[in-house]
Parts: sequence; structure tokens; C-alpha cells
Amino acid sequence: MILKKQLMLTAYDDYEVRYPKRLPGVINSGASTIATESFFREIPMNELPFGQFCQICHEGNCRLYAVTYKNGKLLRLCKTCKNEKLSCGRSESFNMEFIMPPKTSSPLNLIFFPMRSSTGDEVSMENIRTLYAFARTWSNMPHLETHVQWIVEFLGSHSSGLALHSDSVWAISKPSMDDEDPKEYFQPMRTLLPQIRSVMRIGIDKITFVLSTIASFTVKTSNLEKFIDEASQFGIPPEDINFVMYGSSTVSDVIFDPVHKTGKELLKDMKEQIKVKLMPDDEAKKYAF
Ligand SMILES: [Zn+2]
Repeated sequence: MILKKQLMLTAYDDYEVRYPKRLPGVINSGASTIATESFFREIPMNELPFGQFCQICHEGNCRLYAVTYKNGKLLRLCKTCKNEKLSCGRSESFNMEFIMPPKTSSPLNLIFFPMRSSTGDEVSMENIRTLYAFARTWSNMPHLETHVQWIVEFLGSHSSGLALHSDSVWAISKPSMDDEDPKEYFQPMRTLLPQIRSVMRIGIDKITFVLSTIASFTVKTSNLEKFIDEASQFGIPPEDINFVMYGSSTVSDVIFDPVHKTGKELLKDMKEQIKVKLMPDDEAKKYAF
């Protein structure tokens, strides 16, 4: 009898009542509509919470569409909620590629090139070549003296700069030589952390992201913080992650020096509330509209 009571109590403990998630407020959707535009113009970018959320299903999404919903209300919705019918087309799911690490006992610097496009336009090969050339030739690449430099993978996502890396499931297609060929895709950002975790030897290897600007990664400091935090949960310490940006701006023909910051340095900047501006506000807000 006592045993039965205990079992029942355990069952009640295990039974989790699931309340519907609260509809994300304007700030969580991350993207403005005509009705909320003034709010987004006023709020500082570094106060926006991470990610982007569909205003109907509340799921995090990398691309939200503006849709006129019931009562003429304009909302930002994911593709599924936007569509009136479910599509029976091919799956958007993506398999992570298997990458064979080099056979060496030397410490490695794993170099990744994450590239994000909010428009979903084709990425020019010129950009990719520039990134590769920069990573191979810049004399101040991190851990150049101590680690073997290994160019691992190019990742390409079609997603908003406001979205989290883990929500960025849409991939950018690779340039095709032959139109008859089935399209090939770069790996989307979502596979970045699992991919790193599968090839990195924690405590031995380092990670370096080579970007033209940090906007290739994200335009929100909260997203960057979340990424570094998730990497820590994977066992990758913030000091072992490097961000190298060669920049894209020139003023009076002077090219800016490339910037190198570790994840730890970025977190410190953010903690001390040094205004870490990933982009000028005006520029960043383009992504919100
Ligand atoms: Zn949705």
C-alpha cells in the first residue's frame, strides 16, 4: 500500500503541467513592424535579448516574414506560420558533414569562416577567396607560432543578423559550375558548435573565426554572449575562441587594421558595459526592419 502511494507521488512529481508559453513581447520578436518601429528606433541595440521569435508559434527563427494577420495586425512570422498550406516539398533538414581531423599530435588552431547573408543572395566567390587569402597571409593570426593552422570549414547561412546561430538552419548554396547539377550547400551556422565539438581537442586546440566584419556572425551583443556561453557548455573555454575581423571599411584609402579579440575579452567588454557596438546603430537597425 505504501509502495503504491510512493509510486503515485513519484508519478505526480514526474507529471509536468505544461502551460502555454507567453507570447513573446515586441522586444523578443526582435524585428519591428510598422506598429513597433518607434520602439526599435529608441531602444539601444545592446539591450535587445538574444534571438528572434515568431509571434505566432513562439519558436526561435532565423527568418521572419511580415504578415498582415487577423484584424489587420502586422506580425512577424516564421515560414510555417506564414504559409496557409503546408508544403510537401523537399525537407530543409540538414545533415552535418563528417570532417576528418589531420593526423597530428601538435596543437591545432581550427579556422572557420562563418558567413551570413540576410538577403539570401548568392555569395560571391570573391568574398570567400578574400577570407581564405587573409587567413593564410595575415602575420598576426592568433596562435601562429604555437599551433598548426588548420582551415576547417566554410559555413554559410541565410539568416537575419538578429537571429541566434542555433536557429540559423537555412544554408547558402555553393556556386555551381553546371546548372544541371543538383545544388550543393554550405553548412548552416546551426552546425557550427557541434562541428567544432566533433573535431576540437578541448584543452589542446584553439578556435578562430575569420570574418570580414562581426556582422557576418551577428549584429546583437546578446547573441554573441549566448554563443560563447553555449560553447562553454560544450566544454570550450571563452579564452580558446578567437574572433578575427579584417574589416571592410576604408577611409581616405586607409584600410583599418584587422581586429582580434578572444571570447573572454569580448565577455569582459560586455560585462564592464563598455559599449560593445558590433555595428553602428543605424547600420544594425537595418536588420530589424
Ligand atoms: Zn511560427
